[in-house]
Amino acid sequence: MADCLFCRIIAGEIPADVVAETESALAFRDVNPQAPLHVLVVPRAHVANAAELADTDPATVAELVRVARQVAVDAGYENYRTVFNTGEEAGQSVFHAHLHVLAGRRLAWPPG
Ligand code: 5GP
Ligand code: ZN
Repeated sequence: MADCLFCRIIAGEIPADVVAETESALAFRDVNPQAPLHVLVVPRAHVANAAELADTDPATVAELVRVARQVAVDAGYENYRTVFNTGEEAGQSVFHAHLHVLAGRRLAWPPG
């Protein structure tokens, strides 16, 4: 999708600090980090959200979760939070599915 920010990052048209990649997923640092480690793990193929990815390509949902673990462990964190925001009211601002990986500070619950 030409007008999708994360598709453009995947295509290399917009620079990103990539920390991990697999055949189906790319992980890069969030430009506005909310924790010492804040990475976004995205499917290479465009889908709007996590549930749509589960419908069309469930193996890649599992891949995102595995890559999230790898990114956290490689950064030295055994404790980390993974978040999929779905819909504007839930905080989704980029409508290409992405798994947030946050670590490096105590994370409160419930989230804001
Ligand atoms: P959402 O709000 O959709 O759950 O998450 C989108 C995330 O993308 C936000 O945390 C935001 O900081 C991040 N983001 C927005 N634009 C860019 C960008 O150009 N590069 C990177 N690396 N992250 C971005
Ligand atoms: Zn996209």
